[in-house]
Amino acid sequence: MIGIISAMPEEMQSLLDNLQVSKTINKGKRTYYQGQLFNNDVVIVFSRWGKVAASATVTQLLNSFAISEVFFSGVAGALQKSLKIGDLVIGTTLIQYDMDASPLYPDMEIPLLSKTSFETSTTSKLEKATQDFLADFSKYFNLKTRKEFKLKNPKYHKGLVVSGDQFVNSKNKIRKILKKVPDALCVEMEGAAVAQVCYEYEIPFQIIRVISDNANDNSHIDFPYFANEVAGKYILGILKKYLD
Ligand code: SAH
Repeated sequence: MIGIISAMPEEMQSLLDNLQVSKTINKGKRTYYQGQLFNNDVVIVFSRWGKVAASATVTQLLNSFAISEVFFSGVAGALQKSLKIGDLVIGTTLIQYDMDASPLYPDMEIPLLSKTSFETSTTSKLEKATQDFLADFSKYFNLKTRKEFKLKNPKYHKGLVVSGDQFVNSKNKIRKILKKVPDALCVEMEGAAVAQVCYEYEIPFQIIRVISDNANDNSHIDFPYFANEVAGKYILGILKKYLD
């Protein structure tokens, strides 16, 4: 069974609309929806934002269902100029950039775990699904939506995703993060926490993020709208190709 997590309900609604629900359970102020999504057994849950919320959700998910892999999707802020709004990032490595127990442990190392970064188990299947989705892009978004969100030939990138309990909305914050992790492609608030829990439970983990903002002064603009209108459709489109 595949566990699918998102941090915002807007990102998940299109998945829930396509889910044939067999059972829902409520635990710890989360609702876990079990059922069939494109003929695959899945459990879908919305975690809320931040590392604690995401860790609590994934731990409950792994302890309540026979989960064989975890898939996280959602929006993120770009940290590199090469990434545009509407681009996708497939995470290959995740770091909690705000973990700092120095001088007891090196900056960003998770205390007592001897680990700083978490590798995902990303498969070529996810990359292929992403490529196929982007090739069909104009079928998913009409000209009006593409113009409205300035979505021009979106691309996907693979690499480092960093997570911290902070909404990044200034050049100064970006500079501080890149000083610690120069290669980071995008910043968000959950991925590396879920990656740590999956590592500890030995469950394969994959993550894909849609760039929703440039992590600068404008990054708060119309977020739920973007998440609903754009990110949710990306995630549905990619997962359909992935699961079919
Ligand atoms: N909807 C909010 C903003 C959401 S940002 C608003 O109306 O302003 C927080 C969520 O999006 C988190 O789940 C985080 O993982 C992701 N995210 C997107 N852009 C981000 C950024 N610039 N910094 C940190 N997290 C970001």
